[in-house]
Amino acid sequence: MEWEIVMGLEVHVELATKTKIFCSCTTEFGGKPNTHCCPICTGMPGTLPVLNKKVLEYAVRAGLALNCDITRYNKFDRKNYFYPDLPKAYQISQLYLPFARNGHVDLETESGRNVTVRIHEIHMEEDAGKLVHSLFGDKTYPDYNRCGVPLIEIVSEPDFRESEEVIAYLNKLKTTLEYLGISDCKMEEGSMRADVNLSVRKKGSTEFGTRTEMKNINSLKSIERAIAFESKRQIEILENGGEIIQETRRWDENKEKTFSMRSKENANDYRYFPEPDIPPISITEDEINYYNSIRPEFAEEKVVRYMSEYGMTKKDAQIIVSSKYLAKLFEETVEKCGDPSEVRYWMMMQVLYFMNERNVQPENITLSSDKFAQFVKIVKDGRINKQIGKKVFEVMFFGDESFDVEKYIKENNLEQVEDTTLIAQTVEQVINDNPKAVAQYKSGQKKIAGFFIGQVMKKLGGKANPGTVGKAVNEALEKLL
Ligand SMILES: [Zn+2]
Repeated sequence: MEWEIVMGLEVHVELATKTKIFCSCTTEFGGKPNTHCCPICTGMPGTLPVLNKKVLEYAVRAGLALNCDITRYNKFDRKNYFYPDLPKAYQISQLYLPFARNGHVDLETESGRNVTVRIHEIHMEEDAGKLVHSLFGDKTYPDYNRCGVPLIEIVSEPDFRESEEVIAYLNKLKTTLEYLGISDCKMEEGSMRADVNLSVRKKGSTEFGTRTEMKNINSLKSIERAIAFESKRQIEILENGGEIIQETRRWDENKEKTFSMRSKENANDYRYFPEPDIPPISITEDEINYYNSIRPEFAEEKVVRYMSEYGMTKKDAQIIVSSKYLAKLFEETVEKCGDPSEVRYWMMMQVLYFMNERNVQPENITLSSDKFAQFVKIVKDGRINKQIGKKVFEVMFFGDESFDVEKYIKENNLEQVEDTTLIAQTVEQVINDNPKAVAQYKSGQKKIAGFFIGQVMKKLGGKANPGTVGKAVNEALEKLL
């Protein structure tokens, strides 16, 4: 029997405001436990929360970017539950009137399929603290630094059928929010966390099966594995005549399995009621017009522009715009040196290579567009060849502020050898030193010319102009025939 997987996603994203949602404590990641909190975010009696305006701005801009209708009159609600990471014993969230609804995201998956995922709603809420368990499991230490860090929760419709759609969606959310500058969306630091609701049904059926929820999976790889495991588990149960229990399951990365955590709770388990301490919020037409006017150029718009403006392939453009930091480095360098195809070449050949090989995150690239542009000009002017260029680029990429391309090339004597007399002399010497190879060439093995070119380049320290050397070698060899 053929089965179909049905998934919906709830994605929590921490907003990158400097201070928390209802107080002026810092939102900075890390810090000594319980040093980023105050009586408000720890919910001491008698304190009053005040909404951080920046949180509302960031949230609304996210809603607009995800094509949502903005709820002009929205408000906060209290979600009551007791857990040691939540000292107030309630979380301020939005249930009845979330600030954004009815959005959608258009996706292109890895295999090139176009999919649209609908967004049910987005609401604002505060984050809870963290519980740190001791190594031996006998003690738990609450750290309230994260209490009150602003979150938006993006709730999709159950529109996902395959894990590649989930991955494309999360990547798209990440780049969109990163371009907006409202979150760094780092899954590994927990600033973007995904819960996957998953059920299976027979192909062709329109009814939904009973779903389970997998919470806070913290990497794209884990999400793929968790989906594969959980869908297989449900199909096996159903094929053996069993029943799926609606519950929350924990994905264990090491065991590569999901485990039952608790039976799924419903909204009424939380006894939500309107938050009495915060007045309702109204969002004006002017505010929305203003947010639309400061909206940045998004990744897919950049792809179209790069293809038409720079003649780039779609694939190359998609890679560069996948991070706003890479796109910025590319655009600024092109602007400074005026040669998009050369900049593209070094981005693809070197920047992406080092990022993969040494696991450098785009936001941690220290190479400036000034240095990059200067380097491109030097290569273009033929002052160093591409082979030497690769070595210089590596030193420059990992070098610090003080690295000077000009100085480095001079000090290491790397300038390209254009001296045709010297090249001709070296060619002659290499031909004299290799009678065997010359005989092979004479017997018709023309490909051996490559060997001579290699030898000449080596003798000249790799610094000669490869074009000039190739020409000189071919001319000299032809004379021998
Ligand atoms: Zn505080």
